[in-house]
Amino acid sequence: MTQLPNSLEARDIAFQLHSYTDARKHEEMGPMVIEKGEGIYVEDSSGKRYIEGLAGLWSVAVGFGEKRLVEAAARQMEKLPYYHTFAHKTHGPSVELAEKLVTMAPVPMSKAYFTNSGSEANDTAIKLIWYRSNAMGKPEKKKIISRVRGYHGVTIASASLTGLPNNHRSFDLPMSNILHTMSPHYRTMRLEGESEADFARRCADELEKLILAEGPETIAAFFGEPVMGAGGVIVPPEGYWDLVQPILKKYDILFVADEVICGFGRTGNMFGTETYGLQPDIMTLSKALSSSYLPMSALLVNEKVYGAVADESHKIGTFGHGYTAAGHPVAAAVALENLKIIEERDLVGHVRDISPTFLKRLHALGEHDLVIESRGIGFIGAIELAHSDLAKTPGALGAKANAAFTERGLISRALGDTMAFCPPLIMTEAQVNEMFDIAEAGLAAVA
Ligand code: PLP
Repeated sequence: MTQLPNSLEARDIAFQLHSYTDARKHEEMGPMVIEKGEGIYVEDSSGKRYIEGLAGLWSVAVGFGEKRLVEAAARQMEKLPYYHTFAHKTHGPSVELAEKLVTMAPVPMSKAYFTNSGSEANDTAIKLIWYRSNAMGKPEKKKIISRVRGYHGVTIASASLTGLPNNHRSFDLPMSNILHTMSPHYRTMRLEGESEADFARRCADELEKLILAEGPETIAAFFGEPVMGAGGVIVPPEGYWDLVQPILKKYDILFVADEVICGFGRTGNMFGTETYGLQPDIMTLSKALSSSYLPMSALLVNEKVYGAVADESHKIGTFGHGYTAAGHPVAAAVALENLKIIEERDLVGHVRDISPTFLKRLHALGEHDLVIESRGIGFIGAIELAHSDLAKTPGALGAKANAAFTERGLISRALGDTMAFCPPLIMTEAQVNEMFDIAEAGLAAVA
């Protein structure tokens, strides 16, 4: 495609390296420039409007153009644009947000710790867990288990937790003390004739086998998303978490619930932890925490974690970790206002009300010849496209569907051949129908 020499497109090609992008193809095709957003819609530089069917990157819960967040940021920017929280310093927005998060946690949590991204939150969780093991005089208790197809970020440690080949390949990852147990994806992982309940039991058995093979005394923690997101929107099989959690308890293994996508309403409860009756020791939060208007993430840690870390930092040395911008006052002020909006507008109740339509339309797409499975809960879902003569190469069919959706005014996300839907929580019933009408038309064009 020819670009005007001084256009944003041409300058993007000239100067910017993009994530998850074929760089040479990008040089040929150029970028899609998104210029503005309002509600569930964004607009590109040609003035074409799209439904943001993935809320950006699973994140803009309250939609685009929310003036209250802009005003909260401006107010805080005037008052105190930056301060940190190292070495006994603090500021109002970080205190208020910490109090808010600890108070709203669905299980008893002692403290909030701030970071800037989901990756940093998970990375920090690993360091806290290791610090705790050392503090308890159990230096051998350092191994961490996560799951194939889990997504926990891209820093060296969080990318190691992630169970996707693209995040390991070419980086010499995962790190040696991070192990993966099987993915809880029933359709692809079940044995011939295996029921969903038996499959869930086998997932739990596999986890226990791994723990026993490695030595329970060497396993410090297990990380899991209540519902896997970027790995393809994998809704756990019935009973899965009820079988997994007792195993973690039995071997004294900390449970980290990665709520980076599920947190703040996505699954129809404020947290995925509530949806599945989880009892995590640590929760990692980001994305909808600030609707990603500014970078913000947090960990909530319970007394079991906090107590050991606090005693140790008092005795032999501080927790030698922290990010310059963590708990940033402007980002914290935006997050607080964002949480206020989620509560005042009862967006969680809204998701619960509209989810039946969302899931009905999602599963109707599942009837299409190209679709082998539709799966979802709350306001998150996906359809997995079958490989066919149209696309012998994995991912090619997803790319086609993605192009067909985009052409018709819907931004979704192709995770290989899986098309994900994770709209802003404010999406109305009519807009849900509008989104799936486009997806249906797009699929019909691909077929
Ligand atoms: N955890 C989960 C469940 C995620 O979905 C993501 C990002 O998509 C992350 C962690 C990493 O977050 P970030 O991209 O902000 O580093």
